[in-house]
Amino acid sequence: MSAPQRPIPQPGILDIAPYLPGKSGAPGSQTIKLSANESPLGASPKALAAMLEGAAKLEIYPEGSSRVLREALGEVHGIDPNAIVCGNGSDDLLHLLAQTYLGIGDEAVMNRFGFSVYPIITKAAGAEIVMVDEVDYTANVDALLAAVTERTKVIWLANPNNPTGTYLSAAEVRRLHAGLRPDILLVIDNAYAEYVTAADFEVGLDLALASENVVMVRTFSKMGLAAARIGWMVGPAHIVDAINRIRGPFNVNLPAQMAGAAATRDLEFNDRLKTHNAHWRDWLTAELSGNRIRVVPSQANFVMVLFESPETAAAAFAALADAGYIVREIGASYGIDNGLRISIGSEDAMRGVARVLKSMDQTQ
Ligand SMILES: *Cc1c(COP(=O)(O)O)cnc(C)c1O
Repeated sequence: MSAPQRPIPQPGILDIAPYLPGKSGAPGSQTIKLSANESPLGASPKALAAMLEGAAKLEIYPEGSSRVLREALGEVHGIDPNAIVCGNGSDDLLHLLAQTYLGIGDEAVMNRFGFSVYPIITKAAGAEIVMVDEVDYTANVDALLAAVTERTKVIWLANPNNPTGTYLSAAEVRRLHAGLRPDILLVIDNAYAEYVTAADFEVGLDLALASENVVMVRTFSKMGLAAARIGWMVGPAHIVDAINRIRGPFNVNLPAQMAGAAATRDLEFNDRLKTHNAHWRDWLTAELSGNRIRVVPSQANFVMVLFESPETAAAAFAALADAGYIVREIGASYGIDNGLRISIGSEDAMRGVARVLKSMDQTQ
């Protein structure tokens, strides 16, 4: 065999289908972006003020462990700041978890319509992703457990899930954990936890603090700080220690640390966002649900809308785009080609989306 004539990526890298972000409108256009689950109420004003304060010291390296942010999170969530690791978005932490616990020959298990970043980070670590069937777009604990082999090292679970908006109850997550070998890491990605209203849901915090093989991963992105890139995770000391060894030594910039700390303490803003979201999520669900459109019940800040056919979904996407609303197509990324994911936006945006889809419905 002749020597390669150029650098060759590690096994698995070129099997990765690149992540497709939600589309934005053309720069300067009047489009409303409902494709990336961003806050329709902007950022917390206190977070913005803190970020500007942090920007006054751009020549100084940030404190590397994100101490101000971990202290704020510890205070508000009632946990030891030492059990927390912060990241440049939760994406950073998910990558680090994959790199730390997966390698060539290993398997990671996820539900088929789980978050599309999980296959990317699994393959980037050289491991294989095992996709497990769902029941009506909801993760199925029995199927996840049945997919475990001696090669399984990680279970990726987004709860609530993106792009479906569905969730597993506290009892189901605990049943999943109870069925796993102790050497398998259960990653509970609670990216949308702030928006959940279901009474039988719990975040992965207690499980992460009480177990040796569970971490909870969270983000500020869906709560008004997507541009700041801030994520955090909670886990047992041995996992926190391992992640701290390989993370970038200054992985969260200082303005972001300060914005995240202020946002954590701005309970009034967070509450306003949750209330707005719950109201318009319910409203949009009720408004669109009919015999030609199915809205999958969501606990997140978006809804997945299912049409009769891929063609109808494509026509709906086009009609919404014509009216200035950019939503998320989920055919290419997720294989749900009769679906669209629509972020919960302002009242005007929700009324506009409903008007477009309902008028479309009547002409079919
Ligand atoms: C948006 C999202 C994240 C990533 O958030 P960042 O903190 O912006 O990297 C992680 N998991 C799920 C399920 C998400 O939808």
